[in-house]
Amino acid sequence: MSGATLLKETGPKEVFCGLTSIVWLHRRMPDAFFLVVGSRTCAHLIQSAAGVMIFAEPRFGTAILEERDLAGLADAHDELNRVVKNLLERRPEIRTLFLVGSCPSEVIKIDLARVAENLNIELKGKVTVLNYSGSGIETTFTQGEDGALKALVPLMPSSREEKLLLVGTLANSVEDRLTKIFKSLGIKNVQSFPPRQSTELPSIGPGTKVLLAQPYLTDTARALKDKGAEIIKAPFPLGVEGSKLWMEAAAKSFKINQSLVSSTLEPFIQRAIKAIEPYKKKLNGKKLFLLPESQLEIPLARFLHRECGMELIEVGTPYLNREMMEPEINLLPENTRIVEGQHVEKQLDRVRQQHPDLVVCGMGLANPLEAEGISTKWSIEMVFSPIHGIDQASDLAELFARPLHRHNLLNTKQLEKV
Ligand code: SF4
Repeated sequence: MSGATLLKETGPKEVFCGLTSIVWLHRRMPDAFFLVVGSRTCAHLIQSAAGVMIFAEPRFGTAILEERDLAGLADAHDELNRVVKNLLERRPEIRTLFLVGSCPSEVIKIDLARVAENLNIELKGKVTVLNYSGSGIETTFTQGEDGALKALVPLMPSSREEKLLLVGTLANSVEDRLTKIFKSLGIKNVQSFPPRQSTELPSIGPGTKVLLAQPYLTDTARALKDKGAEIIKAPFPLGVEGSKLWMEAAAKSFKINQSLVSSTLEPFIQRAIKAIEPYKKKLNGKKLFLLPESQLEIPLARFLHRECGMELIEVGTPYLNREMMEPEINLLPENTRIVEGQHVEKQLDRVRQQHPDLVVCGMGLANPLEAEGISTKWSIEMVFSPIHGIDQASDLAELFARPLHRHNLLNTKQLEKV
């Protein structure tokens, strides 16, 4: 690994919990339903985060744990069974039901795995019931996806067929574009996990080569490896360079001729470099501080430094999977300060001492920092925006240039008033 300085920090945290990932997972798999087994706080979080779905037919809900549930586990189990049965009567189209654990369900130790097992026996295969944890005690928001995908792995049929499996939720348009490029390189069998329908799970086995599209899928990758799949080691497909290396790694594992790869990718690369240029002018030389939240921080830091010229002050990450991140860390400059974990007070002190031009952070920290005159970017925006692939590199750069531009405009207006 390169000479990055790897540090660890523990203490108070300020991050979204894993329930948040339901917002993008339920859009990806419209035939699945996510039932949060939690309190009214959990219901409020999920409804405000996914508020737009209130106007459509929602595909998530909350089994509220009332005070009497907290007093007795038996009551909570009965209540949950009742809610699930009501839900399935009302919504017979549900094929996969995720019971999503929360802080309250963990505190009172509801055994969701057992509840799911019993329901699967009762429902006789009409609906598959799975469980995972989105609790804020254990997870940050992107880990919710890791938990949901890991829960699906045992349902994937086994096969030895050779295929490229893209793992991690991507915007459908991005997935289509990437798949088309892989096919033009000669990789004919390209599938995605999670699929667009929860019942159409790809098969898995010794012929499967897994290309991770997201950096926060440690448990899922391990489960896929246990099923015989090979995990392709590569940086993540953010920015021109990351996306190019990501595709080249896949092509290499399928023994595709390097000159075909270069000639196929070159037009995309040239177009993207040109498109980034105006944003690079705005970002070049600006100081960047990334607080830990999404686990996308290290690939983003690599892109913003190497392709946009930003100076990295500190790169926080909630968790660091060294093996998975090695290709990314190797691309960072010597002595980049990478901090795993969070002590939010100490990190904010360092932000104030260092006066960065831009801080990437959670929504809860952005407002106070903006009030102090520091420009911020919400890290959660990265999981809702189509940012993967060579074609999207300029959009990704623009996301970071925008707050700096806004900051300059505000300063100019204030000067005009004086
Ligand atoms: Fe809050 Fe925990 Fe519920 Fe998330 S799971 S909304 S952190 S109580």
